[in-house]
Amino acid sequence: MSARYFCSELSSFNFKQYWRLYLLSRLVQLHVYLYIIYMDNSLSRMMIICGHHQKVGYQENGEAFLPRGKRMAGTGSFSEILDGENNVYKYYSEGEWRKSVSGKSVAIVNPTTRKTQYKVQACSQAEVNKVMEAAKIAQKAWAKTPLWKRAELLHKAAAILKEHKHPIAECLVKEIAKPAKDSVTEVVRSGDLISYCAEEGVRILGQGTFLVSDSFPGNERTKYCLASKVPLGVVLAIPPFNYPVNLAVSKIAPALIAGNSIVLKPPTQGAVSCLHMVHCFHLAGFPKSLINCVTGKGSEIGDFLTMHPGVNCISFTGGDTGISISKKAGMIPLQMELGGKDACIVLEDADLDLAAANIVKGGLSYSGQRCTAVKIVLVVESVADALMEKVNAKVAKLTVGPPEEDCDITPVVSESSANFIEGLVMDAKEKGATFCQTYKREGNLIWPLLLDNVRADMRIAWEEPFGPVLPVIRIGSVEEGINHCNASNFGLQGCVFTKDINKAMIISDAMETGTVQINSAPARGPDHFPFQGLKDSGIGSQGITNSINMMVKVKSTVINLPTASYTMG
Ligand code: NAP
Repeated sequence: MSARYFCSELSSFNFKQYWRLYLLSRLVQLHVYLYIIYMDNSLSRMMIICGHHQKVGYQENGEAFLPRGKRMAGTGSFSEILDGENNVYKYYSEGEWRKSVSGKSVAIVNPTTRKTQYKVQACSQAEVNKVMEAAKIAQKAWAKTPLWKRAELLHKAAAILKEHKHPIAECLVKEIAKPAKDSVTEVVRSGDLISYCAEEGVRILGQGTFLVSDSFPGNERTKYCLASKVPLGVVLAIPPFNYPVNLAVSKIAPALIAGNSIVLKPPTQGAVSCLHMVHCFHLAGFPKSLINCVTGKGSEIGDFLTMHPGVNCISFTGGDTGISISKKAGMIPLQMELGGKDACIVLEDADLDLAAANIVKGGLSYSGQRCTAVKIVLVVESVADALMEKVNAKVAKLTVGPPEEDCDITPVVSESSANFIEGLVMDAKEKGATFCQTYKREGNLIWPLLLDNVRADMRIAWEEPFGPVLPVIRIGSVEEGINHCNASNFGLQGCVFTKDINKAMIISDAMETGTVQINSAPARGPDHFPFQGLKDSGIGSQGITNSINMMVKVKSTVINLPTASYTMG
């Protein structure tokens, strides 16, 4: 809640005037309040303080950013992406914003209000075919565009994206109930990712390998091999709802710098944020058909897209859907970033304040809807009570409410997610877990909950709640913790809290996860770090450099000499 105050001294002010002012303020959608701090006996003179309440978010500098009533999404520079007549956002194909001939739309439900917030086009298969054909042609020309020019355009898109962080953040708040401040951060981080990618791309794609033949037994130096990196073609990018902008650009930017074209299928919750982001690329002046964005439900157009013969690479982030896509996709490179059940192992010698802070932040930020959220705490019994006391004290301070007010805990993305989380909680209750807080839910809003004394026979010990519910297992030994972590079908990240670096290294080596954080919660960033999951958590590796390398293939040219050629001497 923010309030701006200004004082004025009014003469002959009365309640009729108050109500006029109030009604006027409602017209401009401000909540005005007046405090009478002084009045004389006749009410003819009053000193008032008046101001207005607004539900707002905050920028990094603390300024209010989302004044109620000032809806910026779909207006101004973004007006062309909205079919104002039907109030449906358009899809992006052949460099233009278009209405689908299907005449159908998909509703995006605001997780907080549970009412339709936006609508997007339900693209048809024929429209997908057209996009694929055009993307294939555009890619050929783009591959011939000098690297520095590709980078220049990416830098431009990054700047435009950051310039428009507020309307895009507004969409994130409304579509996925991400706290206002974090929504702005996601857009800014995405701009930075694009710029870093442009810089990294010109360096790593500007280098190839030169090999000579006589290092392999039986060969003379008669062959020179020049190996360089060439684009794959059309990259299909499918991000999830929880970071729709950031995880879209983490696919788009590496694909483009490497000379590929893009077909983006945004998540339904998050689609409008993605469409705004794509418009920033449009405004930057990328060639038409190089970037395309088709909307529609994954369950309806997903298979058609992922099995489309025009697709040369799939970069997917999401849940188990990724496993079925991997099985159906043809002979094309796959980058799969899937679910996780990140374990946090706390040893006897851990700094418990540090561990508690990381468990709460790592487990409950964005209401636990992060792939790298701490999803199970494995604490050595001797320090479990002390740790739980510290963790519970921090949980008690979390604010719960709407994302516009920048609350720590906001509604989860959908009713079905909330029901799923509730199912895990009830299963744990039946099987005897200790509830550290009372379970409370209103609509999609679930209050943060720690479940102590969780056992291996409870679903919450293994499944990913993707909500503000954190299970804790008390362990008798570190080995027990490592075994639990390794018995999971997931292997995204894990973390260990100890002051002994030698123990930490041994545990890190033993944990079957793509990354282990020592003395910090799991995290995907910084975005240039390698990021990968083992087992059901993924295929391949992300992070800017790895993503660029994944979206190219090596092409060799071998020069065959008639006689062996040795250097000097
Ligand atoms: P999801 O349900 O798997 O959806 C991910 C994306 O796949 C969405 O764009 C969805 O579109 C689309 N989709 C659905 N069915 C499809 C199909 N048959 N073919 C192609 N695409 C299809 O995941 P989510 O609920 O959005 O995200 C949560 C999950 O993502 C969690 O499991 C989380 O751990 C994981 N995640 C992993 C990482 C990582 O880097 N490892 C990062 C973030 C999230 P619709 O929305 O239209 O259905």
